[in-house]
Amino acid sequence: MIRKLLRRVFSAARPQPKAGPAVLARARHGIAREHISSGARRTCETLQQAGFRAFVVGGAVRDLIAGITPKDFDIATDATPEQVRALFRRSRVIGRRFQIVHVMQGGETLEVSTFRAAHDADTQKDEHGRVLRDNVWGSQADDAARRDFTINALFYDPVAETVLDYHHGVADLQQKTLRIIGDPRSRYREDPVRMLRAIRLAAKLGLNIDPEARLPIRDMAPLMENVPAARVFDEMLKLLFSGHAAECVARLREEGLHHGLLPLLDVILEQPLGERFVMLALASTDQRVRAGKTTSPGFLFATLLWNEVLANWQARMERGELRIPALMEAMDEVLDQQSEKLAITRRISGDIKDIWALQPRFEKRSGKLPIRLLAQPRFRAGYDFLLLRADSGELPQELAHWWRDFQEADEATRETMLVPEVRGKKRRRSRAKAAQPEATADAGGAEPAA
Ligand code: ATP
Ligand code: MG
Repeated sequence: MIRKLLRRVFSAARPQPKAGPAVLARARHGIAREHISSGARRTCETLQQAGFRAFVVGGAVRDLIAGITPKDFDIATDATPEQVRALFRRSRVIGRRFQIVHVMQGGETLEVSTFRAAHDADTQKDEHGRVLRDNVWGSQADDAARRDFTINALFYDPVAETVLDYHHGVADLQQKTLRIIGDPRSRYREDPVRMLRAIRLAAKLGLNIDPEARLPIRDMAPLMENVPAARVFDEMLKLLFSGHAAECVARLREEGLHHGLLPLLDVILEQPLGERFVMLALASTDQRVRAGKTTSPGFLFATLLWNEVLANWQARMERGELRIPALMEAMDEVLDQQSEKLAITRRISGDIKDIWALQPRFEKRSGKLPIRLLAQPRFRAGYDFLLLRADSGELPQELAHWWRDFQEADEATRETMLVPEVRGKKRRRSRAKAAQPEATADAGGAEPAA
C-alpha cells in the first residue's frame, strides 16, 4: 500500500517516458501530408533518407488536428545539430541554451531540433529551479516527456502519415482538455513561462485547463519574477497577438497571473477608464489578427501603457511643468519603468513614442497644422489611437469625427472645416488637463518634438 503510494507520488514528480507511443493512423488524426508545408516535408524526407528519424512536432501537429492552420512547422529528429547541418547546404546552428538548426527551404525557415533528454540532477538550474541549459540529447520518448502539455507532445511522420502519441495528447485535444505532462508544480518551477503558455493555449484552442494544472498557478505566479525580461516579452507578444488577447488577459486575471507581467497592468485594469481602454484595444487587435490584417506591437503597447502616461503627464502639469515637455518626460518615465520587466526593443519603443507624441497634435484644428499632421508617416497609427481614446470616453467623439471627415474631405471643404486662428491670445500656463485635453483650436501649446 505504502509502496504503491510512494510509487505514485514518485512517478507524478518526474515525467516518466512511457514504454512506447500509440501509433495513430491517418483516420484517427486526420492529417494528410499535403497539410504540411513543402519545406517541412522535404526536410523530414531528407533526414529520413539519410537514415535518421524525423517528424513534424509540437504546435503544428496540435493545430492541424484542431483544424487550425499552423503558423510554422518545427521538426524533431535523432540527428545531432552537426549531422543536420551536414545534410542541408542552407542551414545554420543557432542558440546556446537551446541549440537548434535553422534549415532554409525556398522561402521557409524550419527549426530542426534534436531529441532532448529529460532533466535530471545534472541539469543546470538557477536557485529557484529554473532550467538554464538544455543540450543533452535523448530518445524520442524523453523528448516527448520534457514537452509542456500532452497536446504538444505529438510527432507527425509525413512519410508514413502517422502520429506518434506518447501522452494521450490526441484524446486530450479531442476532449478539449489541456493537461500538463508530469507534476504541474515541478514543471512550473522548471519553467514558470509554462503558466502563461497554459492560459494562451487554452484560450487559443478553446480548452479547459485540467484542474491539476490550473490550481497551482495562483500560488506559483510569483515565480514569473525570476524569468528574464526578454523571455516574458516574447511570450507576452505571442499572447497579445494570438487573436485571443482579450480572453487571455481576462483569464490571466482570474488565475492571478497578471501581476508583474505587464507591470502595472493590474493597476490599469483596476481603473474603470483604464480597463475600458485596454479591453477595447485588445478586442480591436484580436479582430485584426483574426481577419489576417497587420498588427503592430508598438501600437498595442502604446495603448496598454497610455493610462500610465496620462496619469504621469497630469501629475507633472499639476507640478507646473509645461504641457509638451511634461508629456515627453512622462513617456520616457513610463517606458523606463516597463523595461525593467519587459524588454521592449528600441524599435518598438520608438513606435510607441511616435504614437503618443502625435496625440496633442490632434487637438489643433487651425492653421496649417492639421494638413501637416495628415502628411505624417505615422498619421494612421496616431489616428487609430485617437479613435480608441474617443471610444473609451477619454476624448469627445466629436474630435474623432472631425478627423474622420477632415481626412475624407477635398481641399476646399477642409478649408471650411478649419477653426479660425485666435491671434494675440496669451498662452495660458497649465492648460489642457491631460485627462480631458481641450479640443479647441489653440489647445496644445508647442508642437511635440516628434
Ligand atoms: P504556437 O502556436 O504559439 O507556436 P507552440 O506550442 O508551437 O505554440 P512554440 O513556442 O512554438 O509553441 O513551441 C514549440 C513546441 O515546443 C511546443 O509545442 C512544445 O512541445 C515545446 N515547448 C515550447 N515551450 C515549452 C516549454 N516552456 N516547456 C516545455 N516544452 C515547450
Ligand atoms: Mg510553434
